[in-house]
Amino acid sequence: MTDDLFHLTAPWAEQLNADTRELDAAGAFPYGKWKAIQESGLLRVPFAPEFGGAGRSLTETMRALEGLGHTSRDAGLSFSASTQIVSVGTPLQRFASHELKEEHLPRIVSGEAITAHAITERSGGSDAVNLATVAHRDGDHYVVTGDKMFITNAPVADLFLLYVRTGKPGPFGLTTLLVDADTPGLTVGPAMDKIGLRTSPIGTLAFDGMRVPVGRRVGPEGAGFRVLDYVMKREVLFGFSITLGEMTRRLEETIAFAKERHQFGRPISSYQGVSHKIADMKIRVETARKWLTDTGAKVERNEDASLDLAVTKTVVSEANVQTALDAVQIHGGRGVLTEHGIERDLRNSIAGTIYSGTSEIQRNRIAMLLGL
Ligand SMILES: Cc1cc2nc3c(=O)[nH]c(=O)nc-3n(C[C@H](O)[C@H](O)[C@H](O)COP(=O)(O)OP(=O)(O)OC[C@H]3O[C@@H](n4cnc5c(N)ncnc54)[C@H](O)[C@@H]3O)c2cc1C
Repeated sequence: MTDDLFHLTAPWAEQLNADTRELDAAGAFPYGKWKAIQESGLLRVPFAPEFGGAGRSLTETMRALEGLGHTSRDAGLSFSASTQIVSVGTPLQRFASHELKEEHLPRIVSGEAITAHAITERSGGSDAVNLATVAHRDGDHYVVTGDKMFITNAPVADLFLLYVRTGKPGPFGLTTLLVDADTPGLTVGPAMDKIGLRTSPIGTLAFDGMRVPVGRRVGPEGAGFRVLDYVMKREVLFGFSITLGEMTRRLEETIAFAKERHQFGRPISSYQGVSHKIADMKIRVETARKWLTDTGAKVERNEDASLDLAVTKTVVSEANVQTALDAVQIHGGRGVLTEHGIERDLRNSIAGTIYSGTSEIQRNRIAMLLGL
């Protein structure tokens, strides 16, 4: 256990949990809390010291993110922070040229620049290999035309990691580019309202002949799918470690409530209808923990973890929805009042079975890997 990392964000608990209900209602990105995330050092954890990072391992980073989920009730902010670390920072560190890293990683690692990654389009998200956004070479530039949708952090981002088609349909036709938000030909749409993770703004991008220098390419031309695969693995491990922290806190709070709340002269925890629901919550939380721990260790050892990642993503995201629903039920009327934040947890859990590959796509993958 690397508990220094688990407790990394704990000293910032007060700032991270301030006005969560109001910010959720407003659907506003909490810039003040982003400062707390910056100061905590969370954004630095997995990056090389030469770029301002803390040089910690994949599994240590997972532990720090689990700690964030346990500390912070602002799941939207945590989601935005994990996008910055896993979806933009880590692929840049792994695939970008030294010049690109030197110029951009220090401000990503410090949080001075907010970042987003853009794969999904209006025409589809699950079929990520068949992108319609195209980029053709014109001398030492790419010219990009198309659109992106559902892009986390887009309305507040300074930098975008963009996946475009530069070749034939299929995985080898994809390329990744790093683009500034103020690039001519790029239009960033306003934040779109959504059910949960409301403090994590989401929006659209449109490209109308946007010119991007070839030097802004991340990895070789045609290597976009390799970059995406690297990101997707880490999205499951990093993003859903936050979820594990959130589920653990939810379980602890639900146990405390069930012991303290009395009906018919006894604590409600003494009724099997309640205690078995809590036992099921515990089973889900610990199953999620075991899958995350084992799969993280496997990826760290560079072993093939394709099936494990699909199972982990499905198990943790679905456990999150079910435990959030159980917590609402056990809290009774209080569970549905916005002032307690229990219903917010349920709203925040919904998108987890959709982003980073839907539950249906994960089951397709598991079935395929079983030879079905
Ligand atoms: C909160 C949130 C944040 C996001 N952030 C980002 C981001 O930062 N960057 C980004 O690029 N994208 C992001 N996304 C987009 C996300 O990756 C897509 O929503 C997801 O991949 C699904 O794509 P879609 O919405 O187009 O649904 P579709 O692909 O159209 O799927 C619709 C339904 O059909 C099912 N389906 C599709 N194909 C199959 C199949 N072959 N077999 C069985 N069922 C199938 C799906 O499982 C789903 O239930 C985000 C989404 C959400 C909700």
